[in-house]
Amino acid sequence: MFSKLLIANRGEIACRVIRTARRLGIRTVAVYSEADRDALHVELADEAYPIGPAPARDSYLKGVAILDVAERSGAEAIHPGYGFLSENAQFAQACARAGVVFVGPPPHAIRAMGSKGDAKAMMAEAGVPLIPGYHGFDQHPEVLRQAARTIGFPILIKPFAGGGGKGMRVVEAPEAFPDQLAAARREAMSAFGDDRVLLEKYLARPRHVEVQVFADRHGACVALFERDCSIQRRHQKVVEEAPAPGLDAATRRRMGEVAVAAARKIDYRGAGTVEFLLDPSGAFYFIEMNTRLQVEHAVTEMVTGQDLVEWQLRVAAGEPLPLGQDDLALHGHAIEVRLYAEDPANDFLPQAGRLGHLGFPATDCHVRVDTGVRSGDTVSIHYDPMIAKLIVWDHDRAAAVRRLRAALAETRVVGLATNRDFLAAIANHPGYLAGDLDTRFIERHHGDLRPQQGLAADRVLVLASLAVLLDRAARARAEAALSADPWSPWARGDGWRLNDEAHDLLTFRDGAVERQIRLTYRRGSYLLNLLDGAPGGEVVARGELLEDGSLEADLGGVRLTAVVIRAGAELTVFHQGGSHRLVLQEPLAAATQDLPGGRLTAPMPGRIIAILVEPGTKVDKGQPLLVMEAMKMEHTLKAPAPGTVVSFHHGVGDQVEDGVELVEFAVDGEAPLLGAIGESH
Ligand code: ADP
Repeated sequence: MFSKLLIANRGEIACRVIRTARRLGIRTVAVYSEADRDALHVELADEAYPIGPAPARDSYLKGVAILDVAERSGAEAIHPGYGFLSENAQFAQACARAGVVFVGPPPHAIRAMGSKGDAKAMMAEAGVPLIPGYHGFDQHPEVLRQAARTIGFPILIKPFAGGGGKGMRVVEAPEAFPDQLAAARREAMSAFGDDRVLLEKYLARPRHVEVQVFADRHGACVALFERDCSIQRRHQKVVEEAPAPGLDAATRRRMGEVAVAAARKIDYRGAGTVEFLLDPSGAFYFIEMNTRLQVEHAVTEMVTGQDLVEWQLRVAAGEPLPLGQDDLALHGHAIEVRLYAEDPANDFLPQAGRLGHLGFPATDCHVRVDTGVRSGDTVSIHYDPMIAKLIVWDHDRAAAVRRLRAALAETRVVGLATNRDFLAAIANHPGYLAGDLDTRFIERHHGDLRPQQGLAADRVLVLASLAVLLDRAARARAEAALSADPWSPWARGDGWRLNDEAHDLLTFRDGAVERQIRLTYRRGSYLLNLLDGAPGGEVVARGELLEDGSLEADLGGVRLTAVVIRAGAELTVFHQGGSHRLVLQEPLAAATQDLPGGRLTAPMPGRIIAILVEPGTKVDKGQPLLVMEAMKMEHTLKAPAPGTVVSFHHGVGDQVEDGVELVEFAVDGEAPLLGAIGESH
């Protein structure tokens, strides 16, 4: 076995490989781009080396730079993860030349499967069933048109060199064929530099079922059963599970045998995946082989109890496969979902930015979380926006689905839009629970899975208000403890007023709508009245808010729990599996009403877009001083009391972090205070 391994990747897969290597006593070497200087994989590895600027082509795809690190660090082997250089035969060859072991198949096997068209020709020779289609070298449009007619419509046009669902086109009728062909070729050329295409019969309701294979250099080759990856969006996998629901033992065995035959045909070594489409009739057809570890390998690990990265390393080091076919067995059911920073409400647009808060379910034998990011990390525009893989296991599928629902409910991301609620909608869909899967599941149930964009439930609004009030009270107590007169009524956060009724108003922005709550302070509780809620919608609320945002609430005697994560004025309420974002309006002005001695700090990270008064200006309470832009909204900082603006600490255009002091302010008759406002963190 190797003593030092270089991981030529980033994110969750790099972290995952590092963990296995460490368990095996192998020292680990990470590489990182400029964007990943503080990334988790860099922190976890024993050594880490910079390899270039953020764009992948200047760093993670630069084989020369990576081999240079291998030499400098003395790593004997390179694990490429998936993506990047994992299916690059040239890189595998360069490793061999440099005397470094490439943890993957030999270059000839990568090449053999690198082109879908060539791979199909070879698979046909091995007796592997193919979808009726055409993958010939004669690419004359007339030949292709004839072939399409023979196959029968609908037809799928695929690039020879395709991958990642790119460039595939469904053609419903012969008339559309010439135009679609021309477009598919242009797309293939620009994406892969190869305009050859193949044609396949477009199957109406196939399932995507793939078989994990493993081969060593001593002639052994086994199948580690199948994964069902039918839940796809635009031909890309979203949910994966093992075993495939409802697959009978005979088909499972037959698929495994065919997959092993495919691997043997190309003299395969290491981990590979043979992908099939399974027709409702029970017939299955080869579509492609991926010559690397797959994102979804974790579900196979959960149902076989094997560590596939360990298998990869052992095979690469020349050891025999740890187990033979007859030693392998399936245990229970595992499901994986891919949590992405993307906005389902905006056509799943990838999101980039800071993960203000990241919370995952506790892990144990039922729940596994593979991630490469932590709270506060940035999802970069340069790489895949996957935040984590959540993997659950239980004795049967129904129990695993329940685990999945619970795991998603305990997953909390603040700062970026994610597909969490979309994944939860799939996990909660009766069709999913019934195992009624095929590759058009998402398309067919689109209406049920669409993000709910309604207003927050009244209860969510009440929980948010309670969290704000408890937070204020805690801050006031903390300030009082520091002040000269801790018992001063000014330090109380319970709305105590000398000559005033203890009423107040909280205003939240809920999407495009403003929602108000009138509150009356009571001893130890609050009377909350949703002004736009149900008539007479008053509730006595009390509770406890912990540092981590956990809220234990008592709403009129009903005990509830929620998590309320706050970043400046933005609150995300996680309650009963859902999440809702609310923005507390005018946080600065509102806060100062209760908190004399407030200071003027940035309520959230943002940019200063206007300074409204000159230093030295005497201002009235509530007079606007400065405008910030944050979360695509403008926020005005107002004078907390009558007084004088002494100075501004930042200028227009400056980017500021939350909590940064912005204004030095002298309240009339008092010493200057550096200002904020109790609302900010
Ligand atoms: P890529 O390599 O680009 O991911 P694949 O050939 O692996 O492309 O196919 C990806 C997905 O596209 C499959 O999982 C399936 O959902 C769909 N697909 C591919 N071929 C067909 C076909 N002939 N009929 C119906 N769907 C198909």
